[in-house]
Amino acid sequence: MNLQVKENISLREFTTFRTGGPAKYFAEAKTAQEMHTLREFARKKQIPFVILGMGSNILFLDEGYPGLIIHNKMSRMQIQNDRVTAEGGVNLTKMILIASQHNLGGLSGLVNIPGTVGGAVYGNAGVPDIYIGDVLTHAVILPAHADKPVIVGPEYFQFGYRESKIKKNKDIVLSATLKMRSEPSIKIRAEVGQYIRERTAKQPIGNTCGSFFKNPAQFPSAGWLIEQAGCKGMEEGGAIVSPKHANFIINTGNATAKDILTLTLKIHQKVKDKFNINMEPEVQILPLSPF
Ligand SMILES: Cc1cc2nc3c(=O)[nH]c(=O)nc-3n(C[C@H](O)[C@H](O)[C@H](O)COP(=O)(O)OP(=O)(O)OC[C@H]3O[C@@H](n4cnc5c(N)ncnc54)[C@H](O)[C@@H]3O)c2cc1C
Repeated sequence: MNLQVKENISLREFTTFRTGGPAKYFAEAKTAQEMHTLREFARKKQIPFVILGMGSNILFLDEGYPGLIIHNKMSRMQIQNDRVTAEGGVNLTKMILIASQHNLGGLSGLVNIPGTVGGAVYGNAGVPDIYIGDVLTHAVILPAHADKPVIVGPEYFQFGYRESKIKKNKDIVLSATLKMRSEPSIKIRAEVGQYIRERTAKQPIGNTCGSFFKNPAQFPSAGWLIEQAGCKGMEEGGAIVSPKHANFIINTGNATAKDILTLTLKIHQKVKDKFNINMEPEVQILPLSPF
């Protein structure tokens, strides 16, 4: 194999939480073929693998990851009429901004979500106004149990709130085609600016994965529950519940993954005690979630 598979690579710099131990193996995939080859590498060694986008929705534990991390560097993008096709490793914000230069909008609400197109499809990233699943016309995936890529439509993914079928079956998103809205770039730029201002007003900055827990149905939001349970400002080692947005856990600089996990387990328990509800993490905890 020509691909370079490195060993014992610290995952700290690859997630927005800036925590995590080493990956046993780590490699970059720039093409669909490389993605397939790397998946085979993991299968032959009988180790688990995970696709890594921008790491903005993953908490790697301090013990590290005992398998192969495939860093998605597939970054080509194509525009045809009102459709944008982006490979899984394309930066979502960059894609939205490039599309806007071609007078294609409709996804401004997703601007500044610090992830890749593949990561966005995996978790049906979005804001209350718009989710990526709403505009996906089709995707090319490498199915978990096939060697050749296949094209699938939106129904395949069974999109829900922060949910898709591929969260369970380990398919890999190679590319996604999105139906954009034709409108003047000046209008899109204004909309993008407005969404950025709203985000800046509501969300803290720092080493975080954004909202840690999913919003449970029948309650205003996970942030509201956490705040009502008295958790705002709670700390554990270098991790803190943001005083600005209670569902944001911040690594203030030297938090370990254990600090973050301990803090989130405490929050989970406090919300359970007060509201008798089991909040579900939105963030993927790897290699094994205790929730
Ligand atoms: C400040 C901040 C704000 C945020 N705001 C929002 C928001 O408004 N809305 C929202 O939905 N999310 C938000 N997020 C969470 C996060 O950015 C999204 O979930 C994003 O889509 C994750 O993309 P990623 O590339 O970073 O995925 P990663 O964190 O790298 O991976 C997440 C999961 O997706 C899987 N995955 C990644 N790429 C692929 C692929 N090509 N094929 C198959 N599986 C793949 C990974 O294996 C992993 O299980 C926010 C995060 C931060 C830090």
